[in-house]
Amino acid sequence: MKNISVIGTGYVGLVAGTCFAELGNNVICADVDLKKIESLNNGICPIYEPGLDELIGKNVKAKRLSFTTDLDKAVNDSDLIFIAVGTPPKESGEADLSYVERVARQISSFAKKPKIVVEKSTVPVETCEKIETVLNRNSNGISFEVVSNPEFLREGTAVEDFMKPDRVVVGCRSEHAKKEMEELYAPLKAPIIFTDVKSAEIIKHASNSFLATKISFINGVANLCEQVGADVEKVAEGMGYDKRIGRSFLYAGIGYGGSCFPKDVSAFVSICDKHGYDFALLKEVQKINKLQRINFIKKIESSLWVVKGKTIAVLGLSFKPNTDDMRDAPSIDIINALQSEGAVIKAFDPVAMEKAKPFLPKIQYCRDEFEACAKADALVILTEWPRFKKIDLKKLKQAMNSNIVLDGRNIFDQAEMKKLGFNYISIGR
Ligand code: NAD
Repeated sequence: MKNISVIGTGYVGLVAGTCFAELGNNVICADVDLKKIESLNNGICPIYEPGLDELIGKNVKAKRLSFTTDLDKAVNDSDLIFIAVGTPPKESGEADLSYVERVARQISSFAKKPKIVVEKSTVPVETCEKIETVLNRNSNGISFEVVSNPEFLREGTAVEDFMKPDRVVVGCRSEHAKKEMEELYAPLKAPIIFTDVKSAEIIKHASNSFLATKISFINGVANLCEQVGADVEKVAEGMGYDKRIGRSFLYAGIGYGGSCFPKDVSAFVSICDKHGYDFALLKEVQKINKLQRINFIKKIESSLWVVKGKTIAVLGLSFKPNTDDMRDAPSIDIINALQSEGAVIKAFDPVAMEKAKPFLPKIQYCRDEFEACAKADALVILTEWPRFKKIDLKKLKQAMNSNIVLDGRNIFDQAEMKKLGFNYISIGR
């Protein structure tokens, strides 16, 4: 049992803190966002993440998990301090490390004893070195060790991913830190990869950039499939059976979005540029990703001919299913483009509508799929929520004003859509 604090109670910090508590540790989750902490202290989970609500309740009840805005207390009541604050992109594409730097200053000014500071946010290589410099510069002779422990959980399956990871990566220098981290993660029975600190930092950026590359690769293939009348779904299936390639992340669509891939690829490209290496492959990955959204908008425009005054039903707003996260969701760019041409947008998303409102204030939010599709001139699918795949397509068609369906996620069978009389336009087939 360890005393842990997690600074930053967002998608990563809240899940990590809760899961550490579930493993039997005493955990304090700290955040500067008073509203978030108040909501957690009132038993309300501020994010949608399957299974998280129950786990928080259980561990708060067992007195292993608490929430505070008091960073001083969080720091001094713990031996291991995890940094899980945001590292958003700057205009230049570089990671904005100001939140991380601020937390480092705060830890060093509050800590009254030596601590192990574990960097969990996704950061460019050499950040831990800088954190250690800040910690030791501002402290009163107290020593800190900084460990890199990148997080690989995915929103939508975060609890499961955290509790059953493919691997845990730990970059550290001392035997003491290694032992602490080994003991902490032992109950997960997952492989723990111990490396030097810089390699651990690169593992995270390299992993996300590789996955983004797989997505852009299959989107590139999809573009050829469209030109020659092949089916990218079949191509991906045929490729995916090869164990060296694998089926995951070979899904053509409107490109990757969310709070991680776009910013992590940009940050990786930036840090490479900074060190004199032009990672041109990744720049192409970014270019293909951007083009997927633009090409999809063009498909909508050409199928409607005139967009102005048309009512477009949109199903799915979050950047992927099973999350309410709207950060860099393709829906934002696509809907903004259609609205700027004079389209009326009626949208439905099973969980992301509240979080979507600040990003998309001028659309009509609907109760369900059928309300969104009522009298619509086209239906556009932007997120592959499982419930959309099971929708009553006959009923949907009756509700619409036309038969046009543009599917950015390839969720329907082409032959069936044709049989039902839809003008069905998807990606790469
Ligand atoms: P988030 O925006 O949901 O949460 C960050 C939290 O940090 C916010 O609640 C914010 O109020 C808080 N914060 C900022 N400054 C603070 C301070 N000085 N003291 C205390 N709290 C402070 O972000 P997130 O999605 O949880 O991501 C956090 C990090 O983890 C990022 O680096 C991200 O790239 C990485 N990551 C995210 C995911 C994911 O799926 N979201 C997965 C793996 C890694």
